[in-house]
Amino acid sequence: MTEKNKMSHPISDWNNPNRHQSSVRLSALTQDKLNPLIVQAKVQCQGGQLPTYIPYLAQANPTWVAVQVQRIQGEGVAAGDIRRSFPLMSVIKPFVLLFLLEKLGIEAVFSQVGMESSDQPFNSLAQLQADRGKPRNPMINSGAIALAGRLLGKDGASGCETLRQWLNQRSQSRLFLDEAMLKSVRSLPNERNRAIANLLAASGYLDHPEIALDTYNHVCCLSGTVRDLAQLGMLLAQDTSIISPQHRHIVNDILITCGLYQASSRFAVEVGLPTKSGVSGAIVSVVPSQGAIACYSPALDETGNSKAGLFIVQQLAQTLELNGLG
Ligand code: GLN
Repeated sequence: MTEKNKMSHPISDWNNPNRHQSSVRLSALTQDKLNPLIVQAKVQCQGGQLPTYIPYLAQANPTWVAVQVQRIQGEGVAAGDIRRSFPLMSVIKPFVLLFLLEKLGIEAVFSQVGMESSDQPFNSLAQLQADRGKPRNPMINSGAIALAGRLLGKDGASGCETLRQWLNQRSQSRLFLDEAMLKSVRSLPNERNRAIANLLAASGYLDHPEIALDTYNHVCCLSGTVRDLAQLGMLLAQDTSIISPQHRHIVNDILITCGLYQASSRFAVEVGLPTKSGVSGAIVSVVPSQGAIACYSPALDETGNSKAGLFIVQQLAQTLELNGLG
């Protein structure tokens, strides 16, 4: 392996016989190690793009970077712009899945949505058409819109509120609905998501496309800080009496294969942590049996994943020898 590869990819760790036996672990992380990572991550933001289809997201400062690490053993560590709140956008998807697995059970959920990865963009209509209207997985828009239709409520606001309260109670986070963001989401018509909802309805995977879309838009605007997001990640990091371990494992496994859209497989090989990104620049990674890492940085790569966020998770995974096998 060349020196260049060693520098740029954790993949260089392949030859390490201890790769799957974490020896350093999240507990070794100190404030002194985290602070310089923010400086390096700011460099990574360069060349990243802000999404334009949600005007409010386009107003973010592309150099904002925040990280919060929560640990099962030990205090949390945080650095950067940690007071800033942001909408979770697609990062809510694994938590919608978790909620519905707990409420409806595995069979009901997976009769409505698949669990296969996709090499198409997150809002692909072509993928849904190729799959004859059955959403391929819960981490892309088609799957999440189908599942949003199961968040029972008379309208989007009530379904979202049920989820918000359930998550806040179980994770001790303080998620709130960002009404201004929701207004911004609604200000430009999202024809792609509408076409997805209509096809889901036509193929029998959605009863009320309007309510499902409204609910989906609401839950994408649930907002919080990196601390709140790391607390959510903790729901997936450890066995507790409040979440079924089987459901937790299912969500983590789907995150490994589908959490970062087309970048999922490569990230799984290189980093191996269940991770979800959102178009706001939010990222959460689960470190099974150890804790969770939440990042926020709005500049995105071509796939729609936060550039600095991916960089931070990669760096932490490499230096602390983290992996998803817990
Ligand atoms: N609300 C956004 C959308 O449907 C969420 C997508 C994302 O975060 N990737 O476009």
